Amino acid sequence: MNTRGLVALQAKAPLTTFEFDRRVLKENDVALKIMFAGICHSDIHQVKEEWGPAIFPMVPGHEIAGIVTEVGTKVTKFKVGDEIGVGVFIDSCGTCASCTNGLQQYCEEGMTGTYNTVERDGTTVAYGGYSNYFVINEDYAVHIPKNLPLSGVAPLLCAGITLYSPLRKWEVGPGSKVAVVGLGGLGHMGVKFAAAMGAEVTVLSHSASKREDALAMGAHHFVDTSVSGALLGLTKAFDLVLNTVSAPLNINDYLELLKLDATLVVIGLPGKPYEVNVGTLLNGRRRIAGSMIGGIPEIQSMLNFCGEHNIVSDVEIIDAGYVDKAYERTIASDVKYRFVIDASTF
Ligand code: NAP
Ligand code: ZN
Repeated sequence: MNTRGLVALQAKAPLTTFEFDRRVLKENDVALKIMFAGICHSDIHQVKEEWGPAIFPMVPGHEIAGIVTEVGTKVTKFKVGDEIGVGVFIDSCGTCASCTNGLQQYCEEGMTGTYNTVERDGTTVAYGGYSNYFVINEDYAVHIPKNLPLSGVAPLLCAGITLYSPLRKWEVGPGSKVAVVGLGGLGHMGVKFAAAMGAEVTVLSHSASKREDALAMGAHHFVDTSVSGALLGLTKAFDLVLNTVSAPLNINDYLELLKLDATLVVIGLPGKPYEVNVGTLLNGRRRIAGSMIGGIPEIQSMLNFCGEHNIVSDVEIIDAGYVDKAYERTIASDVKYRFVIDASTF
């Protein structure tokens, strides 16, 4: 099927229009008309090769919301007309312990990403969601609750699940004190989820202008980290700190904020190592953990939770021609709070 989208022809190149073919449906595939595609900071890291060598031409995009247009002969999960979401991976081995436990993102053979990857046939380069049409095995797609707008749902497929998963893993609920570092695409979803789960939520942001928005999203406190000494009063204040910052930062300042046995979850992936002060880690048996998106069952649970609580991302809908500018603004922390491309403009 002829598909239009945006492509980076080489590392750091501006995105340009691109036409390519999606595969003919296999028996377990569904085809979808993409309605909205979110812009994740991971797209920017990969176009700029900040995570190491990448595959070009690259069609980025792994926050996809659309409508099913066709189903393969053995598809049971979807029918034509269903609203459907696709996230950060499109395949996995399906047989390892992680995959059989619904943790496809931690597939022992490695998940197959939605783009910047070679598919499991060993030859096909995967093209992502900055496009108007997509084909995927039904097992790797999810249903979207009917009451939610697709534009606000697209970012849930990465930003949403990436914050929902650690909040569930670390059993956040009433009485939990949670800090979210960085109020961008990921961070703002963390605030909404943690608040909906009943936690006391503090936003640690280096952008003072985001205070009102943070409080409106459900945060109870906002701390401007650009003010020197801003974190000093928060030593040992939190059960969980979620670091979503896309740039390098002094992780030790944030480790200090953990209570006894509490955990700092690293989510932002700037592509540079952190220097951990071991003394800070030992003092209070503090922990650092990582967390990467979520598996298919958890993505579905997250979307159902969003449907019940009326949670979507705060989005700025843009045309395809604005994507380079949107990248610049995202890098400058000037995103409120996710850019979403109207796929009819590809
Ligand atoms: P984003 O929308 O650009 O948000 C990042 C936020 O970090 C900014 O809005 C800003 O918040 C803060 N920030 C940026 N530069 C900073 C600096 N120099 N100093 C201090 N704070 C800074 O990015 P995103 O899409 O949410 O992604 C965030 C990170 O998570 C990226 O590295 C991305 O690759 C990674 N990621 C990880 C996963 C995973 O599975 N673990 C999934 C998706 C994305 P304030 O203005 O509030 O300070
Ligand atoms: Zn992402």
